[in-house]
Amino acid sequence: LTDKLQNVFKNLRKKGRLTEADVKAALKEVKMALLEADVSFKVVKQFMKAVQERAIGQDVMSGLNPGQMVIKIVNEELVKLMGSETTEIALKSGNEVTVLMMVGLQGAGKTTTTAKLAGKLKSKGKKPLLAACDVYRPAAIKQLQVNGEKQGVDVFSMGDKNSPVDIAKAAYEHAKNEKYNVLILDTAGRLHIDEDMMEELEKIKEAITVDQTLLVVDAMTGQDAVNVAETFGEKVGIDGVILTKMDGDTRGGAALSIKAISGKPILYVGMGEKLSDLEQFYPERMASRILGMGDVMSLIEKAQANLDEEKAKEMEQKFRKNSFGFDDYLESMNQMKNMGGLSSVLSMLPGVGSQMKDLEGMVDEKDMARKEAIILSMTPRERSHPEILNPSRKYRIAKGAGVDVSEVNRMVKQFEQAKKMMKQMPGLMGGKGGKRGKF
Ligand code: GDP
Ligand code: MG
Repeated sequence: LTDKLQNVFKNLRKKGRLTEADVKAALKEVKMALLEADVSFKVVKQFMKAVQERAIGQDVMSGLNPGQMVIKIVNEELVKLMGSETTEIALKSGNEVTVLMMVGLQGAGKTTTTAKLAGKLKSKGKKPLLAACDVYRPAAIKQLQVNGEKQGVDVFSMGDKNSPVDIAKAAYEHAKNEKYNVLILDTAGRLHIDEDMMEELEKIKEAITVDQTLLVVDAMTGQDAVNVAETFGEKVGIDGVILTKMDGDTRGGAALSIKAISGKPILYVGMGEKLSDLEQFYPERMASRILGMGDVMSLIEKAQANLDEEKAKEMEQKFRKNSFGFDDYLESMNQMKNMGGLSSVLSMLPGVGSQMKDLEGMVDEKDMARKEAIILSMTPRERSHPEILNPSRKYRIAKGAGVDVSEVNRMVKQFEQAKKMMKQMPGLMGGKGGKRGKF
């Protein structure tokens, strides 16, 4: 997949705006590459539509050529497709027992992953108990015990004479009594999806409260992995997916389609047979891996930085002319939010530094949403001419934003302070400046 995509955009010439023809030509090859990587047709179709709609007619960002611009959009859409955010397994707090049930086909990696996950939870200070509910494969119990021991985690088993439902119930009681706080049920798989397996899992769910049902699927099986996720999702209900064997020669297609098809996020990826080979799933990293173009990505990052630099200059102009209004304030807040913090934005402005601390208050994340609501409740004229804000206008704005008038006053005050502070910055007001970067 990677090689394919790397060759896709070579032929695009430098232009200022993406034409339909540019985009179509580039995307045709992206589409082929995705299909070859075993991404489901449905997902590919949807994906191509999203990228195309976004790409056509879009201005090419300064510093990028049209090809890079399409890559940037493809990359962003890939991330979106995989769920954008890293999802953590939800665990109950304190001593309450969180029950995780591992499900999946035989050989997918359930038993191995159970032990891997237990190690992760243990290192986070949890006290996990593993329960051997696979009574069909003779070696399954032993396998869990051996792996549990390697991880220094206790394993609950009752041999193979009891039903998985009874074992799960007894394990749950044991976990509660002995003050474990996570119980992981290692269940049996079948070679193929069958009714018995589904029924057994449902019975376990009826017998005890399963907090999270985690589906373990083998990435090497490509499209099948996606079908399995869909079926398990419908029949048993799943809360998240763990994709194993990503260290192998997989084409990445499964990772791309699972979220889109099953609606459930990938939580972890198995990267090898060793018990330490379990990694959190990062959609962005996976997208980069799929695109496989580190160089291009860093180019894009640079261009992005240039763009923000341009914005910073634009804002500097506004300060000089004293036309910095609430819309700019909002934009600067959003920019800071997007870029992961104030320091990265401010580090682009020359001569900042000492005033950093004072400014941090301006972008307290929790506060930001409320400020945004307040600004959005202002009329355009109020936003560009803050001086016209009088008590009755403030009252109206507060009502519109659903906040107290005191909040509006506070926000306006902070805005004035920020404005003043920025004005005082030597680099901004035509001092030596010019030096960018870190301090
Ligand atoms: P189960 O039947 O679902 O319980 O699967 P197992 O946990 O027994 O795993 C089946 C095989 O897959 C074993 O040989 C594991 O070592 C192997 N396996 C599991 N996870 C991974 C992984 O992430 N990478 C690789 N390379 N092998 C894995
Ligand atoms: Mg097993």
